[in-house]
Amino acid sequence: MKMEYQVSVHIDIPEPTLKAITQAYMRLFPMLLSDFFNTVLGVFAEHYMRLRRKPFRCERCGNEERFSWKTRKGKITALLCLFGLLRLAQLQVKCSGCGHKMYITRKLLGVEPKVKVPRQTVMKLGLLGALSSFRVAQKIVGMFGWVLDRMTIWRSVQRVGKQIRFELDAQEQPMGQADGTGIPIRGIRKRGKELKVFVQLKRRGGVRIAGLAIGDYEGGWEKLFEPLLEGLRSFKRFFLVTDGDTNILQALGERVKVIFQRCLWHIPHQFKWVLWKDGVKRKSQPWVYALAELLDICAVRAYVDQQKLIRQMVRRKQQRLSELIGYCRQQGWRHSVTYLENAASDMFTGLLNRFQGRTVSLVERVMRTVNMRINVGKWSVEGALNATKIRLAYYYNGFDPCLDRAA
Ligand SMILES: [Zn+2]
Repeated sequence: MKMEYQVSVHIDIPEPTLKAITQAYMRLFPMLLSDFFNTVLGVFAEHYMRLRRKPFRCERCGNEERFSWKTRKGKITALLCLFGLLRLAQLQVKCSGCGHKMYITRKLLGVEPKVKVPRQTVMKLGLLGALSSFRVAQKIVGMFGWVLDRMTIWRSVQRVGKQIRFELDAQEQPMGQADGTGIPIRGIRKRGKELKVFVQLKRRGGVRIAGLAIGDYEGGWEKLFEPLLEGLRSFKRFFLVTDGDTNILQALGERVKVIFQRCLWHIPHQFKWVLWKDGVKRKSQPWVYALAELLDICAVRAYVDQQKLIRQMVRRKQQRLSELIGYCRQQGWRHSVTYLENAASDMFTGLLNRFQGRTVSLVERVMRTVNMRINVGKWSVEGALNATKIRLAYYYNGFDPCLDRAA
């Protein structure tokens, strides 16, 4: 509806500098905000009252046509929008059918009755709090002239995060990667809890988030995989790169063939840690030899597409791997032997099944996105999970409440 909005205010500005005028504008802003809302609501309400059929109905008798004005300036209702707190004088009508009196302001606005922070604002504040620290979010909002308390941002993050669900998309690629990263949880040591992420590869490149969970370090993988069982059933075969415990995927039975591939990107990294457990001196001659061998074995050339060539390459890699295991055994490196033996069976499945170029960890980038936010402060398990859900949904799954789109 086209309408005219007129405003006349008396302001006192000491000088014409950028600073002074900006400050004056910020004082003006909150005054305008509620007034603008009240004016627009009033114009619409007057228009609706002239219509035969109203866009609202009596809460008691269901009448949609006959109402009279009770008041245009009723009790103040306060609600938070992105520009600050709105204080609206409520519009109240009376049902000519049953005499019931009701406020229509929130009905017109399309917001829930009574709540101070409506859903739309919660969504936006939730995104804000997931993208930056609460302190920064508060500071940014403060620059626009109003004070937002951190609890409101925190609560918004929790509410929005709880609503976000991840799952596999049957339209995207039958390929995924799962990985974990340690996160700082209040009251436990650094490596106490791990955030586990499942990403699915997209047809047009890049990844989307298909699962997220927080579990014990080097355990609790079923929490990540369990909700995905249903989605996995829509694929004939699924190629999964992970170093996690995949026992729960046995539940899929024969109908879905899951092809496991150890993350070749991680293997040399983890091996360094295993060598340390075996007491191998860092950068010593045996250390350098073993690691260089493994790095070479793990380096897989992408885009080789002749099956014969691939099989030959894999045979040579497996040969070198068993030689490396023999070397470790000779040196008495118990942990290294076990580690490599466990990894061996799932190291080249991707290559053999022609899933090309899985030498990079796509989750690793996602983890950096997580860490930039999560490493600011200490979290509760729930808090960390919810903030991460929003953050990843925004960066990878097109979730953006500012565009009024769902995840
Ligand atoms: Zn009525």
